[in-house]
Order: sequence, then C-alpha cells, then structure tokens
Amino acid sequence: MDTLSNIFREKKLKLTPQRIAVYKYLQSTVEHPSAETIYKALHPQYPTMSLATVYKALKTLVEVNLVQEINVGEGNFRYDGNVCPHPHIQCLGCGRVDDIEGVCFSGLNEKVKDYTNYEVLTNQVYFYGLCTCCKDNTNLSTESSIEDK
Ligand SMILES: [Zn+2]
Ligand SMILES: [Zn+2]
Repeated sequence: MDTLSNIFREKKLKLTPQRIAVYKYLQSTVEHPSAETIYKALHPQYPTMSLATVYKALKTLVEVNLVQEINVGEGNFRYDGNVCPHPHIQCLGCGRVDDIEGVCFSGLNEKVKDYTNYEVLTNQVYFYGLCTCCKDNTNLSTESSIEDK
C-alpha cells in the first residue's frame, strides 16, 4: 500500500479509490482483462463505479506506464499490470490472452535494428491459437459431427 502511494506520488497522480481498485485488480490477475471485465469484477465492491470511470482510470494508468494496454486486434483492448515487454498469445476460440513465459524476445529489438534505420525502443509480439479448452471443444464437436452422419 505504501509503495503504491509512493508510485502515484512519483507520477504526480491523485490516489483515487477507483485508480487504486483498478490498479490492484490488474496486479492480482494474469488474465489480461478488458475494461468491461474489470468493471464487472469490481462492481460488487464498488457499486457506484461506472464503466466510464474504469475506462478513465485505465487511461490514466496507461499514460503513466503503470499498466500496459494491449491491442489484440479489432479494437479489442486488454490490460496488463505487467508493464515489462513480454509476448502474448490469444485464443481465437474464447478470446483469452496469456503471457508466453520462458521465451525471451529481448534480443528481437537488436535483431530488427539490422533491418531498419530505426532506433528500436520496444516491441509487441502477439501469437494466436486455440487454448486447451477450445482445442478440446473443437475435437469434441468434430467427433460428434462425425457421429451425426
Ligand atoms: Zn479458448
Ligand atoms: Zn501479459
């Protein structure tokens, strides 16, 4: 709690209950929730907090780099309490987003420098696939459609 107020003071941010709630929620999950998911999760505890407030809190937190905004496509924004650059994988079946751990992409910036005149500062790497649940469901539906015939 003390560190959080320090971080906010450093960023010259007012420590509002809404910002704290959103920030803490993102620190507590690895699920890369959307603003709507955050809103629903916080609603029981903060019944007066609107979805617009959640969006505003997120925008502020992203601006001061306390939260990472990830755009997994089609304007589908997700939020990540881990602001270190790391690769993500999204399920095309259910839309869940996971971190890819154990693969290091930090060398990628250096590598990309060889192919461009840019000073490479950061990168966002996304992979797309099917999570275990969706893979199993696909298998099941294929099997049942075979049985139907
Ligand atoms: Zn899935
Ligand atoms: Zn992540």
